[in-house]
Amino acid sequence: MLRTIAAFDRIGEENAFAVLARATELAGQGRDIVNLGIGQPDFPTPPHIVEAAIKALKDGHHGYTPATGIKPLREAVAADLHKRFKVEVAPDTVMIMPGGKPTMFMSVLMFGEPGVDILYPDPGFPIYRSMIEFTGAKPIPVPVREENGFAFSAEETLKLITPKTRLLILNSPANPTGGVTPKAEVDKLIAGLEKFPDVAVMSDEIYDHMVYDGEKHVCLLTYPSIRDRLILLNGWSKTYAMTGWRLGYAVWPGKLYDYARKLAVNLYSCVNAPSQYAGIAALKGSQEEARKMVAEFDRRRKVVVEGLNKLPGISCATPKGAFYAFPNIKRTGWKAKALASSLLEEAGVAIIGGPDFGVLAEGYVRLSYANSTENILKAIDRMGEFLASRKAA
Ligand code: PLP
Repeated sequence: MLRTIAAFDRIGEENAFAVLARATELAGQGRDIVNLGIGQPDFPTPPHIVEAAIKALKDGHHGYTPATGIKPLREAVAADLHKRFKVEVAPDTVMIMPGGKPTMFMSVLMFGEPGVDILYPDPGFPIYRSMIEFTGAKPIPVPVREENGFAFSAEETLKLITPKTRLLILNSPANPTGGVTPKAEVDKLIAGLEKFPDVAVMSDEIYDHMVYDGEKHVCLLTYPSIRDRLILLNGWSKTYAMTGWRLGYAVWPGKLYDYARKLAVNLYSCVNAPSQYAGIAALKGSQEEARKMVAEFDRRRKVVVEGLNKLPGISCATPKGAFYAFPNIKRTGWKAKALASSLLEEAGVAIIGGPDFGVLAEGYVRLSYANSTENILKAIDRMGEFLASRKAA
C-alpha cells in the first residue's frame, strides 16, 4: 500500500468540471445538451490578444521567464489597477500566476494548519473550502444570504473572528451567487478589521469587470488600513475570455511575495511566456471586446431572471455581478443536487446544485448565463416542462 498523507483524504474539487465531463459525454452520445454548468465566457479571446501570443512565439519567446512574471506585464497590471481604482501598486508586488486558482491555493497554504481557523464565503467558490481542509485548518463558513442580496454582512463576518482566525477570504462579485457587496458594507468590514491586525485578507476579485446597474467595483486595494495584509486575486480568465490560457495575477503584501515566488519556483517555474505577452495586449489594447461581452452578459442576466421567475416553485433574485444566477428552488420540493442531476440526465440541461458551493447552499442551484440567449431560453423551457411533468425525487 502506498502511504500518502491524510490531507489527500480531505482535499475536495470543483464539481462543475465533473458536470462538464458528463455533459460532454452525453453530447458525444448524440444528446442535445444545453450547458449552463461551467463558468466560462462563451466568447473567443479577442483577436488582438491571440495575435500578441502568436507574435511572442514567432519572436522567440520560448524560454523560462522570471518566476514572478515578465516585468512589462507586472507594470501593465500596476498601471491597470491605477487607471481603474486610483491605487498605487508597485510592480514588484505583482506576481503573474497561472490563473486565479493558484493564488487561493498559495494563500491558504501560507496560513492554514491544524488549530487555526480560516473564514470563507458560503455559498462560495468550492476551492476555498477544499484547500482549507487540505491544510488541516478549520473552515469557518461566512454565510452569504439571499435576503441580503448575496452580499456578505460585515457584522456577521466580524463576529466569526476569534484569536484562532488567520485568514479571511472574500469574493465580490461572487461565484456562485452573482452577489456584489455594497461599498458601505465593505467600509464597515474594513473598519472592523482594524481591530484584528493579525488577520490576513484574500480578496478574490476575478469578476471585477462584471458589475451591473451602473455600480462600480470596490477594490480592496483602495483601503490603506489593510494593505499590509491584503492578498489580491485577479486575472484574465473571465474579463478577456481566457480561461484556457491559464493567466492570472496576485498582489502579495510584504514577505508573502517571496513565499509565493518560492512556491512558483518549486512548483511550475513560471507562467508560459506567450500567455504573458497576450496579457500585456489585453490590458493595454482596446477594451471594446471586453466591454461588449459584459453588455451581452447584462442582457442575458435579465432574460435568465425573467425566465426563471416564471417557473413553478422557483424564485430568482437579480444577480448584481459575475455571470451566474442562483435561484431559490425550495418550493419545488426538489433537493438541489437531485434536481441538477435529473435535469442533466432527463432534460439535457446542465446546471450545478447549490451544495457543490457550500454547506449552506441547499435549496439553490447555479446557472451560468455565459451561453447564448437562445440556449438560455431553451434551457428554461426544458426546466419548465421537467418541473411540470416530474415529481420531486
Ligand atoms: N475565483 C472565482 C470566484 C472563480 O469563479 C474562478 C473560476 O471559476 C476562479 C477564481 C478561478 O479562475 P481561473 O480559471 O483563472 O483559475
